[in-house]
Amino acid sequence: MGKKITVIGAGIVGITTACYLRRDGHEVTVVTAHPPGEYCSFGNAGMLNPAGCTPQAMPGILWKVPGYLADPLGPLTVRWSYLPRAAPWLLRFVASATLRRAAQNADALRTLIRPSQECYEDLARHAGCPDLIRRSGYLVAYESERSYRDDALAWKMRRERGVVTEEFDAAGIRRLVPQLAPNYVRGVLVPGQGFVANPERLVKALAAQFQKDGGGIVQRQVLGVEVDGNGARILATDAGRLPVETLVVCAGVHSGELTARLGEPVVIEAERGYHVTYSDPGLEIPMPVHVSEAKVFVTPMEMGVRIAGQAEFAGIYAEPNYRRADVLERHMRRMFPRVNTADGTRWMGRRPSMPDSLPVLGASAKHRNVYYNFGHGHMGLCGGAPSGRLIAEIVSGRKPSIDLTPYRVNRF
Ligand SMILES: Cc1cc2nc3c(=O)[nH]c(=O)nc-3n(C[C@H](O)[C@H](O)[C@H](O)COP(=O)(O)OP(=O)(O)OC[C@H]3O[C@@H](n4cnc5c(N)ncnc54)[C@H](O)[C@@H]3O)c2cc1C
Repeated sequence: MGKKITVIGAGIVGITTACYLRRDGHEVTVVTAHPPGEYCSFGNAGMLNPAGCTPQAMPGILWKVPGYLADPLGPLTVRWSYLPRAAPWLLRFVASATLRRAAQNADALRTLIRPSQECYEDLARHAGCPDLIRRSGYLVAYESERSYRDDALAWKMRRERGVVTEEFDAAGIRRLVPQLAPNYVRGVLVPGQGFVANPERLVKALAAQFQKDGGGIVQRQVLGVEVDGNGARILATDAGRLPVETLVVCAGVHSGELTARLGEPVVIEAERGYHVTYSDPGLEIPMPVHVSEAKVFVTPMEMGVRIAGQAEFAGIYAEPNYRRADVLERHMRRMFPRVNTADGTRWMGRRPSMPDSLPVLGASAKHRNVYYNFGHGHMGLCGGAPSGRLIAEIVSGRKPSIDLTPYRVNRF
């Protein structure tokens, strides 16, 4: 018999989790503060790239941080007044940046996100939007041999985990993406990797299909969780109390606020990123392009071309600093000198990031009726559907198809 399940959150993670739970015959209700796909999952770069399995905390990263911070076009910013509050996260990030831990985290990330493309092709077909899931491969471009060499360890770790790559020189890069500026000397193509042509539409289409399949979505903000000896019992919301029988927390960057109320605090940070989307860029870009030095992705989408990137540590609630989006625009002009930037729209989103780049995924360590699926950081689109499928496996009483130990809530 199906269970009565409440999922908090209607980003890509909550909605894919709800879809898989509904497939298993459960009675599923999503409770969300924002309409489906209108928080962090709205504006990502769209990449479904299981090749991106190396964690952010890599050996040597600390030596790069001062350079990133000093460079006005750099990929990282910290609001200094926020630094003391980010310290617990940063300390764990530093501790994760050893070769041994990075290799373990890459194993766990790769195992989790490997089936991403297949999961989305299946869900999108069922939701009538298979056109959104593309498989073009993507290009990583380097402006100098030195920056290519700086990434050698990451590429080695990816290849050791089954990622297939093809190398290109400057002429080869121009054959792949003719409109890219000629200043790129090294390219690595990751064939067969995919992207989503409109991340917001994908979440909305999956949410609509979930409702057609009998699932419920209610728009309310969860303010608290009441627990007793048997686990979570009541959600206190801005529109009254909701009883719960089984609870899955997929609240993105706000998940830490909820786990604290469940007595299981986690160290999660808002790694704020930005995008600019050009509806009439005047470009033909055959595949997403990542420039490693700038840490930006340029993705061809159905609404135009999007450049996305930046990691800003300023907390969840600080106002966006759109100068970071201006930085993206400067990178866009450098990459594609002929781009028409007249109608760019800017956006900021909060990546729900854990210090080791792994999500919190699996059963609560305290409450028998509570499960977690959040903290996917830079890889939340890619990891959303595969992790949702795993939650359905364990909630339905099946053996999970991968070992969930690396993602446990109390690992720090
Ligand atoms: C610039 C940028 C580029 C990115 N590019 C990529 C990429 O190319 N590929 C990739 O895989 N990932 C990418 N990401 C990361 C990815 O977008 C996120 O990891 C992902 O969207 C997180 O999804 P989520 O469902 O966990 O959270 P969200 O989309 O943030 O959804 C959280 C949901 O929880 C709800 N919620 C929160 N608190 C409460 C509450 N108290 N009560 C009720 N509801 C609540 C919200 O309303 C919302 O519906 C990028 C991120 C950024 C910022």
